[in-house]
Amino acid sequence: MLGLTKLASGPGNVAIAERPEPRPAPGHVVLDVVAAGICGTDLHIHDGEFAVVPPVTMGHEVAGTVAELGDGVDGSWLGVRVVTETYFSTCGECKWCSTGRPNLCRERRSIGTHVDGGFAPRLVVPVTNLHRIPDRLNAYAAAMAEPLACCCHSLLDPDRVGDDERVLVIGPGPIGLLAAQVARSSGGHVHVRGTPADAARLDVAGALGFATSTTAAAAPGEFDVVVECSGNAAGMAFALETAARGAPYVQIGLAGKPVMLPFDLVCFKELSGTSGFASTPTSWARALELIESGQVELEPLLSEAVPLEEWERAFAATRAAAGIKQVLLLN
Ligand SMILES: [Zn+2]
Ligand SMILES: [Zn+2]
Repeated sequence: MLGLTKLASGPGNVAIAERPEPRPAPGHVVLDVVAAGICGTDLHIHDGEFAVVPPVTMGHEVAGTVAELGDGVDGSWLGVRVVTETYFSTCGECKWCSTGRPNLCRERRSIGTHVDGGFAPRLVVPVTNLHRIPDRLNAYAAAMAEPLACCCHSLLDPDRVGDDERVLVIGPGPIGLLAAQVARSSGGHVHVRGTPADAARLDVAGALGFATSTTAAAAPGEFDVVVECSGNAAGMAFALETAARGAPYVQIGLAGKPVMLPFDLVCFKELSGTSGFASTPTSWARALELIESGQVELEPLLSEAVPLEEWERAFAATRAAAGIKQVLLLN
């Protein structure tokens, strides 16, 4: 079986390579992967800026069908369309695991970074990680359930946005457009901001019903909550500057390197810096609820489903912020 693999640490060292055929251990299933989303993290992994345990098949935003069951797995799972949480294993005992925060477990091993992920036709995951997806949701869009769960973790656990609060989302990429929809589901009035190069993405934000602006325009006032999804120093500085006094500053974007920021504003305005690393079981439940209820739409964010062999083109498009979300097609 061929999979897109991080072969060794450092920049590059990514190629399609022969990978071990997955076998389901007890309590695990093999998924036929239909689609797996390309995430900013995958670019950081490609560039050697995000720690992984090579050689490892990349891909952690997975939608597929249950194809094989390990011992002890309920037979009703066979053939079910699913998305999967990303933790392959955690210690289950530390203070983080025992308080519903397995994302912070030091022993955490995730698909696509520590164990083989979804940029291959098949992968094995614990059955406890699976979530059924609605019939009407296409599997390409369903691969975005994972980044949606990450946004739910950052914005809903605990709730950062209150009814009628003004929310600024910086960076209209896939994470920004998911975060904007989550913030709106909490009652926020959301403004999405990008650069002039983001025109097409801001058009999608507009079509989803959000107010938008670009850095070519003046700051649109102060915001009760600022959500930074660009991972860009200028975006972070702008978020600190436009946050109202006492506001939460939510950092979701990753810079991949140290950045210079006017951090005194955290003090002068008593901002509370918050974030969320990856996702938790609670945030997955919230994500699936938002998809089921139609409060979050995934399809408008899907730009292209690209065959695995053309991964370089899809990675380049993601890097160039062309379109919104590229997913790789595996089956
Ligand atoms: Zn991701
Ligand atoms: Zn633990």
